[in-house]
Amino acid sequence: MKIAIIGFGAAAIGILERMVGTEHELHVYEKSRDIYSSSISGIRADGKLFVSEDMGGDLAVPTALQKQMVELYLQYADSKAIETGDSFLNSGYFNSFYEKGFQPVTAKFYHIGTDQLTQVLFNIYEKYRNAKNINIHFDSQITDITRKNNKIILNKSESFDCAFIAVGRSGHTLVRNIIGEYPQLIKDNTTVDLGVRLELPDHIVESINKEMYEFKIRYRSKTGYNVRTFCNNPSGYVVTESYDDFMTVNGHSKLNLKSSNTNFAVLTTVQLTQPFNDPVGYGSHIAKLTNLLAGKNKVILQTYQHFKASKRTKKLYRVSPTLPEDEFILGDINLAYPRRIAESIIDFLENLNSVLPGITNPDNLVYAPEIKFYSNKLKNEVFDNLKFVGDCSGLTRSIIYATAHGWMEADSLLGGSSK
Ligand SMILES: Cc1cc2nc3c(=O)[nH]c(=O)nc-3n(C[C@H](O)[C@H](O)[C@H](O)COP(=O)(O)OP(=O)(O)OC[C@H]3O[C@@H](n4cnc5c(N)ncnc54)[C@H](O)[C@@H]3O)c2cc1C
Repeated sequence: MKIAIIGFGAAAIGILERMVGTEHELHVYEKSRDIYSSSISGIRADGKLFVSEDMGGDLAVPTALQKQMVELYLQYADSKAIETGDSFLNSGYFNSFYEKGFQPVTAKFYHIGTDQLTQVLFNIYEKYRNAKNINIHFDSQITDITRKNNKIILNKSESFDCAFIAVGRSGHTLVRNIIGEYPQLIKDNTTVDLGVRLELPDHIVESINKEMYEFKIRYRSKTGYNVRTFCNNPSGYVVTESYDDFMTVNGHSKLNLKSSNTNFAVLTTVQLTQPFNDPVGYGSHIAKLTNLLAGKNKVILQTYQHFKASKRTKKLYRVSPTLPEDEFILGDINLAYPRRIAESIIDFLENLNSVLPGITNPDNLVYAPEIKFYSNKLKNEVFDNLKFVGDCSGLTRSIIYATAHGWMEADSLLGGSSK
């Protein structure tokens, strides 16, 4: 078969790994200029690899396959330069969170770091570039996919027996075009995660950071909304992330350059019900409103005390932000965030403070908007020769799940021979 893979990210790597050396001819089309391009793949972001049955996506991925996918990346990293550990292996932490109503999420993790990740990705690229049945085309954005006589035609020119769409979240325009043409592919789309990023001195969370690096917990708040932690960055940095027409906050950490603050997101899951079905529109409007208050290309920063009391912050005290000064404005997040979301976050943090004292120190920092969009969940059984893999399928949200999803879909195309 002549097979097209659109996007060279985590999911594509899973497909290539399963199909390298087979008799099939594979063509990967990546819109970024080259492998060094900063826009290539979400894998560039931070490089925490998780093995977990509880997080990473709405897809069952056998633990053995997750470990195999972790190895795929780790074999190209310096093993001495990887931070690793287990979340909630220690029953002490597990019990103290559980007692307060939290649901601790168990996972094994490996942190490669933003800096080392670039080299890992390059090594993986080199391996596939040299394979006889694989052709990687950079600077090749695919904007049009058509099905005709059981063939898949890319950009109205080249024809393939089968195509994997592996464009991640950044490829939402292509996915939107495809589902515009084939609406029967959509399973559902009702959720958006809205929240803030908390930044506080390392010493407050030092012991839990040492124990598990990334602590993931979920909590049913008194508002009825589910709230969770996401993307903990010990000694990390808060950064801004720009979308087409708004700006959000995010966080990351480097292996070599460390700050003295930890940051993590606190996200409230908003599940919209009939007749409203535009969670992306809802989330982006709140982000835009926050940006409107903050000024062009800026986000809002507030102390926890003022966030809770809904007062504008004018001065900071002991905690220095890691986000550069020209990227935020001191303000009041409550002018942009719906009350139910702010209350859910406050309830979560106040409860968390009883397990980790110091979380709600008045001078800790709160940044907004922090938003995680979910892609539409898509059905892969509609067409035999058009498959959505990784984050663009709405089924995965992590490097390992996206890679494993690619591997599993490729395996099933090959008749599941390895099962
Ligand atoms: C800031 C940030 C931090 C993250 N940190 C972590 C982490 O630490 N651990 C973790 O497990 N997950 C993390 N994630 C999530 C993780 O990056 C994704 O779940 C994963 O990369 C998804 O893989 P994918 O192959 O579906 O998409 P991607 O890895 O995003 O790859 C998609 C590729 O498709 C290309 N593309 C898009 N559209 C087109 C088109 N039309 N034509 C051709 N090419 C196209 C893109 O350029 C990109 O290279 C993070 C995400 C972000 C944004």
